Amino acid sequence: MEELIRQAAGILAAKRNVVALTGAGISVESGIPPFRGKGGLWEKIDPMQYAHIDAFLKDPAEVWEVLIKSMKEVLDRARPNAAHQALYRLERLGILKTIITQNVDGLHQAAGSTDVIEFHGSFAVQRCMDCQASFDTGSLELDSLPPLCRCGGVLRPDVVFFGEMIPPNHLKRSQLLSAACEAMLVIGTSATVEPAAYMPVIAKRSGAVIIEINPEPTPLTGEITDLALMGKAGRVMSRLAEQVEKLMA
Ligand code: NAD
Repeated sequence: MEELIRQAAGILAAKRNVVALTGAGISVESGIPPFRGKGGLWEKIDPMQYAHIDAFLKDPAEVWEVLIKSMKEVLDRARPNAAHQALYRLERLGILKTIITQNVDGLHQAAGSTDVIEFHGSFAVQRCMDCQASFDTGSLELDSLPPLCRCGGVLRPDVVFFGEMIPPNHLKRSQLLSAACEAMLVIGTSATVEPAAYMPVIAKRSGAVIIEINPEPTPLTGEITDLALMGKAGRVMSRLAEQVEKLMA
């Protein structure tokens, strides 16, 4: 593993236009369980069932009670971990330009990263389904569910539920950046949720080096990925940032 990390560091130190694609796995060490794979909270319910827009439209109170309220409790406590911090270290070195994240937890921005495309939206904001007014999630009263807007409309998190479209501006910018980058770091994503999973394919076809960080293999491993660093994001990314910093000192 150390040799692979050194190789990846050598590649990154020579680049100035690197993009990262991150998924739920990068936030696991911050205490946020992923939807797939092992993780306490979601082993009790099927988040895929509740995270669909049809489920929310059918019974918003139930989805708030079972999924969104629990997510708020977990996200309120979460802080950036060494992997989020390592991406900010790579940005400061002038190597990493943009993070395309599938996460809705805001932890990249909390770590200092300045250009973050929130591909699946943000949990920090709630939007009224009727008048479109927006509210800070932290300020919500959850005594009765679903929480309501002043106009009486139901509030929903400003995230992309399964069955909804990716905001077209986010999709377009992600496609352009993926096609233009010299290397892509693919961290903590099972690479199964489209169209996010397609970004490494676009990058690879345009000549970028693909470096994957994940303790488990994914559909990209051995196909699209050039270097697979198979370990937890916190340790692997902090070692990687350290090596790049040494090479650039
Ligand atoms: P996912 O499809 O990205 O799968 C999680 C991946 O993380 C798996 O491949 C797993 O092997 C890997 N992983 C687990 N622990 C890791 C670690 N310590 N370091 C690196 N990788 C690790 O994500 P999902 O959980 O299937 O979620 C699907 C969608 O749900 C996401 O795209 C996102 O929109 C949303 N979601 C967001 C959050 C968040 O904001 N933190 C959390 C859960 C789900």
